Amino acid sequence: LISSETCTGLHIIHIAAEMAPVAKVGGLGDVVSGLSKALQKKGHLVEVVLPKYDCMQNERIGDMRALDLVLESYFDGRLYKNKVWVGTVEGLPVYFIEPLHPAKFFWRGQFYGEHDDFKRFSYFSRAALELLLQAGKKPDIIHCHDWQTAFVAPLYWDLYAPKGLNSARICFTCHNFEYQGTSNASELGSCGLDVSQLNRPDRMQDNSAHDRVNPVKGAVVFSNIVTTVSPTYAQEVRTAEGGRGLHSTLNSHSKKFVGILNGIDTDAWDPSTDTFLKVQYSVDDLQGKAENKEALRKHLKLSSADAMQPLVGCITRLVPQKGVHLIRHAIYRTLELGGQFVLLGSSPVPHIQREFEDIANHFQNHPNVRLILKYDEALSHSIYAASDMFIIPSIFEPCGLTQMIAMRFGSVPIARKTGGLNDSVFDVDDDSIPIQFRNGFTFVTPDEQGLNSALDRAFNLYTKNNQTWQQLVQRNMKIDFSWDSSASQYIELYEKSVARARAANRA
Ligand code: ADP
Repeated sequence: LISSETCTGLHIIHIAAEMAPVAKVGGLGDVVSGLSKALQKKGHLVEVVLPKYDCMQNERIGDMRALDLVLESYFDGRLYKNKVWVGTVEGLPVYFIEPLHPAKFFWRGQFYGEHDDFKRFSYFSRAALELLLQAGKKPDIIHCHDWQTAFVAPLYWDLYAPKGLNSARICFTCHNFEYQGTSNASELGSCGLDVSQLNRPDRMQDNSAHDRVNPVKGAVVFSNIVTTVSPTYAQEVRTAEGGRGLHSTLNSHSKKFVGILNGIDTDAWDPSTDTFLKVQYSVDDLQGKAENKEALRKHLKLSSADAMQPLVGCITRLVPQKGVHLIRHAIYRTLELGGQFVLLGSSPVPHIQREFEDIANHFQNHPNVRLILKYDEALSHSIYAASDMFIIPSIFEPCGLTQMIAMRFGSVPIARKTGGLNDSVFDVDDDSIPIQFRNGFTFVTPDEQGLNSALDRAFNLYTKNNQTWQQLVQRNMKIDFSWDSSASQYIELYEKSVARARAANRA
């Protein structure tokens, strides 16, 4: 086990359901590895605890080995054994918990979407804390993420601090308030939490159903630090329209709640070293970008007749949040404007998946449109590199990473002004923004006219003033979207919280 004694910085342990590239569904996975790497680089000891999924990318884990310890953790009135594995992911030490429970919680061929997700992740949250206790860890910060590991906050204070795992402050980051993991109150008892104590309006009771508990609310109430992933989204979720029922809870705990814009992992997303690409390129040598465009067109059997025909990319989970009707509209509008459109997306919502399969079939042999309806890491890199424009018409967007990745690859974002998009995409025609910060095309109203107003302007600039367009591309590729400054903001929060606890202990 890794010892914290040699490190003078903070000891930070992330407990999460995702970590890129081994177990990634969306942005959460990117954030857990990107933030952890940045914290480690700044001299802190960072460890991660994950479930051991059967569907992980095992080849991305270094030195994986089973620990010589049997971890017993409580669930449903008895103890279950867990096998614990340790390995290295992106240079970070990661513990993987494999429950030896008959329900085979993480042996389901998918990360989420199981009927017993509440059980799976409340079990995992408890087992992760049990691991820290049994291993004698003395972390300064335990950082949990989203509803799946939100249970850590009440479990820590109710059960694990009294057992002696009491060195830590708890930080909870909510990556999307749409997903709160509510369940019948009785289910909370399985992981050992006291339902009668916690199913109360000022604790974990869901704000709209009194017989239900809400893990995200529990983490907001019981954590020392609560963050979300952009300043604008932090404001939006404090309102009745944006808070998905939690605005009043967030307002009562507003002193400990802040929005910090995510960064991106600039090593993983770097066109000058990216091995997924046909050719690497950089801001000083954009010929390579053109070659990637040509290669993608060939690969997807799109027309290569005109090198200057603009290529619009979109990479997303196809869920209502992402503005699926506007994505569909953007495909048709791009065709009208004479461009090409490539969509990489998959949907957990059957009717949306079917709708896009129909569109994909309709355009099956079309020279200017291709829809690829699956999750494909390698292809995503090729699309960022090949596209001239990138569309993100979200209805709401806690942070959004694709606009930042797109800019790093020289693809200009066309985005709706909401959440983190509002904090990272600034319209080229917005006079209220200093000219050096303007980097894309934005719109406000989430309808077809709104989207057209941004997409049409992008096409106009691209075709009528390509020199200005190239300058915009180059400026965007130089923007610093690394985790550096955001990680510093997290460290400041961690340190303040640790200092407050130490002062309170001395008093
Ligand atoms: P969210 O977390 O809501 O899905 P983000 O913009 O924060 O959205 O993060 C999306 C991440 O997932 C990006 O790294 C993006 O490249 C990746 N991604 C989304 N859909 C796919 C897909 N179908 N194939 C490959 N990568 C995808």
